[in-house]
Formats: sequence, C-alpha cells, structure tokens
Amino acid sequence: MTMKKLTKLIFIAMAGFYMSNINADEVPAKVETAAPEANVTEERSSEKQETIPLTPRQALVRLMDGNLRYIQDKLLHPNRSQERRLAVVNAQTPFAIILGCSDSRVAPEIVFDQGIGDLFVVRVAGNVAGPIELDSIEYSGLYLGSSIVLVLGHESCGAVTAVVQHNTKEIENIAELIEPAVKASAILPGNRIENAVKANVRMTVDYLKKTPNISKLIHEGKLDVIGGYYHLNNGEVEILR
Ligand SMILES: [Zn+2]
Repeated sequence: MTMKKLTKLIFIAMAGFYMSNINADEVPAKVETAAPEANVTEERSSEKQETIPLTPRQALVRLMDGNLRYIQDKLLHPNRSQERRLAVVNAQTPFAIILGCSDSRVAPEIVFDQGIGDLFVVRVAGNVAGPIELDSIEYSGLYLGSSIVLVLGHESCGAVTAVVQHNTKEIENIAELIEPAVKASAILPGNRIENAVKANVRMTVDYLKKTPNISKLIHEGKLDVIGGYYHLNNGEVEILR
C-alpha cells in the first residue's frame, strides 16, 4: 500500500469516527452559529478562548489579534490550562488552518498567540501544498469546522532560497512545487527571495482555492484561503492581498 493510500485510509477512518458521534447536519449548523463580533473583542482580555466556529473574517481577526499581541510582547497564552486540555479530549474544533514552513523561527501557535486545539497546522519546508498537505487541509475544513486557511510564507525562507539559487539537490520534491513561483517572480524588481516567497504563497493560495472540496466550502461561505508573509525581524504577519 502506498503512503498516499494509507494517508487517505487514516483520514477516512478519522472522519468516520467523528461523524459517527454527531449528526452530520450539525457541522454546517455549528459554523452558522458563529459568535457575534462583540465576543471577539471580549476575548482579547481573557486567557480563555472559546473555539466555537467563526466566520472566515472573524477567524482572520482572531489570528491577527494574536499576532499583534505577539509583536507587542503582550501575549495572553490562551487555552493552555488543564481545563482546556480536558475540554478538547474528545473533540477538536480548530478555528484556523495554517499551512506554514517547517522553519524553527515561524511556529504558528507562538506567532499568533494561540493555544491547544486552536490551530490545525500543516508544516512543510517552503509551505508547499502537495497531495498529502491538501488531504490534511481538507480534513480540517470538512470535518473540524475550521473557517480559514492561512498559507504562511516568511522572510529568508531556506527552501525558496535554495530554488532561486539552483541548489535543490536534497529537496527535489519540494523544489518542484516552488519552481513555478520562482520563475514567475524572476522579472519583478526588489528583493528576489522576498518576491519568490510571496509568489509561492499566492500561487499556493490560488491552487488550494481551485481544489474541489475547498472550492465548495468557499462557495458556501464556510471557508476562505488567504496568504501571509512573516517578517523575522519584528514578528509581523503581513496579509498578502
Ligand atoms: Zn521557510
């Protein structure tokens, strides 16, 4: 059995277990009963953070509020208590999916000041989306109620730099997915690596948006896919429009 088939079987089994414990109709219903905007504001001064499904916009606000706390050294460290651990023993409802780089300097729970059960994180060098990454993202979007996918590239990404410098001997599979962005951004003025990282993020966002399951969730208003660029020097996540 190939790894691809094994991965699919595991996800099908996980999805089957989840769906067997709830009414399938509850999934969209939970998404639709998202917290009003006022609650998002109230959470900012509390260590506890609810994980009821949010709208895509509310999910982005929650992420960016956390990133602002991180930039300003005003971390709340939400959802890291014993109470939280117990609350998510039987089920998880991460409000956001992060497709980020494996780089040790860009840990999503830290840079967005989130806790246990808040983020469904897929990390791979160069934040690329191949079949395995796509399966993971789809799982959280379809079955865990996540309402946003943030593809997060970053300053001085080693994987992207390797492709720009044609030094991809040990990362051929990843390089193959980054190369179109490097080629497309080669003529742009400015920093070559930064341009390539941002192009890679934008092309990954476009790819994800066109996949059938994610496209359907977007059309239903349950999910959005956006891109971000993390600045190593000050911790800021810049949203790429
Ligand atoms: Zn990187």
